[in-house]
Amino acid sequence: MVIVMAPSATDADVTGVVAHIEAHGGQAFVSRGVMRTIIGVVGTEDVLETMDAAGLPGVSETMRITAPYKLVSAQNHAKRTTVRVGGVPIGPDTFTLIAGPCAVETAEQTLAAAHMAKRAGATLLRGGAFKPRTSPYAFQGLGKVGLRILAEVRDEVQLPIVTEVTEVADVDIVAQYADMLQIGTRNMQNFGLLQAVGATGKPVMLKRGLTATYEEWLMAAEYIAQRGNLDIVLCERGVRSFEPAIRNMLDVSAVPLVQHLSHLPLIVDPSHAAGRRDLVVPLARAAMAAGADGVMVDVHPNPETALCDGAQALVGESLDELAEAVTTIPALLGRTSATHLAG
Ligand code: PEP
Ligand code: MN
Repeated sequence: MVIVMAPSATDADVTGVVAHIEAHGGQAFVSRGVMRTIIGVVGTEDVLETMDAAGLPGVSETMRITAPYKLVSAQNHAKRTTVRVGGVPIGPDTFTLIAGPCAVETAEQTLAAAHMAKRAGATLLRGGAFKPRTSPYAFQGLGKVGLRILAEVRDEVQLPIVTEVTEVADVDIVAQYADMLQIGTRNMQNFGLLQAVGATGKPVMLKRGLTATYEEWLMAAEYIAQRGNLDIVLCERGVRSFEPAIRNMLDVSAVPLVQHLSHLPLIVDPSHAAGRRDLVVPLARAAMAAGADGVMVDVHPNPETALCDGAQALVGESLDELAEAVTTIPALLGRTSATHLAG
């Protein structure tokens, strides 16, 4: 069961509802979103039957959700959610471009990539400091030094930053620097990590696992939501397929279908899906046409010398083509470009 608090509900009202649930033998999970507070209730049928929270002060409505994921389900949500990252919206009315280097390598490279991103219309900067690499011999990222570089570049170019956290032990330090925490594909079902990022209260981007079903993906999001954080953005980045010509297969169906199942915003990462530059812009266009709330792409000032994923990084003409698509396609579907909004 989910209890939706009225926008006017006070902290005391929320505490009162939690006490009521616990007094009836249930467990309460409070999630505070930008628009409203939702309390998820876990308990046996008996508990849910007898609890009757509808008349309590501050309660707007109570609802039984039939989907296995409760807090992130679209059920009873009239409109999909907008998540704000450092003031930049990601949601159903806008289209958000996130761009930056796959990995932070040097201050100069990150700054150059950030300027490229901004020129292309990006309003959020991506960049990995902690890199989950398939090979233990590949560049593993600059770690904390990379976070400091990202923060300096953010100050210089005025773009909030999105960066990955791969371990529970690093969550605090990454949350100190990042405007949005990224959970990568390989960690989608790292439940301890999901709970830890949920507890930071920072917006989280949850990438789809390599072989995850929609339900598994949304159950992973539920772990974050259950720790009190509804500011979650889902990211489709391709799933494993049998075709060696592409790194992963972008699942365009996930865009409308998962947006139908969940109220959370959903963006697409065509770079990690394709693994090769020539496919990134066509896939980004497909994501826009399918109704994605944004795309995240890799850019690099010198892809041939990149320490990570240079083959898929946009540069020059390919980035100009993406910028052109961002200004034309989402507008056809009634979206405005997501610019920084104060507050
Ligand atoms: C990334 O975005 O840098 C990344 C490693 O992506 P994924 O987790 O989708 O492979
Ligand atoms: Mn990468």
